[in-house]
Amino acid sequence: MTLYCALTFDFDAMSVWIGSYKSRNPSMVSRGEFCAVAIPRILDLLRRFRIPGTFCIPGHTALAYPDLVRRIHAEGHEIAHHGWVHENPADFAEAEERRNIERGLEALHEVAGMQPRGYRSPSWDFSANTVGILLDYGFRYDSSLMGSDFMPYYARMGDKFDRQSPYEFGVNVDLVELPITWLLDDFPHFEFVDGDTYGLSAASKVEEIWRDEFRYAHQHAPGGLFNLTMHPQVIGRGYRMMMLERLINYYRSLDDVVFTTLIDYADHWRKENPLASWLKSGAIHARPADVTSSNSPSRDPAG
Ligand SMILES: [Zn+2]
Repeated sequence: MTLYCALTFDFDAMSVWIGSYKSRNPSMVSRGEFCAVAIPRILDLLRRFRIPGTFCIPGHTALAYPDLVRRIHAEGHEIAHHGWVHENPADFAEAEERRNIERGLEALHEVAGMQPRGYRSPSWDFSANTVGILLDYGFRYDSSLMGSDFMPYYARMGDKFDRQSPYEFGVNVDLVELPITWLLDDFPHFEFVDGDTYGLSAASKVEEIWRDEFRYAHQHAPGGLFNLTMHPQVIGRGYRMMMLERLINYYRSLDDVVFTTLIDYADHWRKENPLASWLKSGAIHARPADVTSSNSPSRDPAG
């Protein structure tokens, strides 16, 4: 059975240093400018292998590099929402978080004339309001959570947790979660941020991890998704691009491997696993009360 592979690129540019790292340091922020060097390299690689990519782009980046964003769009790759200026959603009240989503949407529409249907939160951070906001704005999938490795699930809304009480699972909603992991992210492996992350790894270490995770998924997760997260300003360095090309050749050498965008995979998976029947199947990530209940959650359009 098929294993799907998504090569995803978080085109953060300067926004990650300004938003996540809150830097006022022009040298640190200039790291983001390397994206303008790396994006053409990545697009050339994808074109040579005829692979569709998913580019997660903050509104701030779209306004800084409109021509690159238009080129990504024109070459047929998916563009997903990645916040306004790579802010942590949990730092904002609900109305402000909505405004950040809107600013991201407005910038992508202004620059590329498109509306993203997928979302990946900056640094994979979430607030308690994020899932509800994504539903309100019509997103079909999210790719920020870590509850599984290769198999998608329906995100939940309203989980409750504190240090005193048992964990309370919220209701599953019609938002496909395409899980991610720091293991399959180039940033901690390769980036150097003093006091934060000391990557700078040799390619051989990362190549081994990314090859063996893929091999495991190929053997144990039929129909699943290998969701690889990269950053142009990180993966775009020469020896890392050589590693990526070797990995693509390895992935392609296995049977029944299909390269896909996140939106194509999410739509395909949702069609095969509608929320109502997924809940009844006893899925691991379903709210326990719903697995045996015939009642569908109120936000399930199929219910
Ligand atoms: Zn990012």
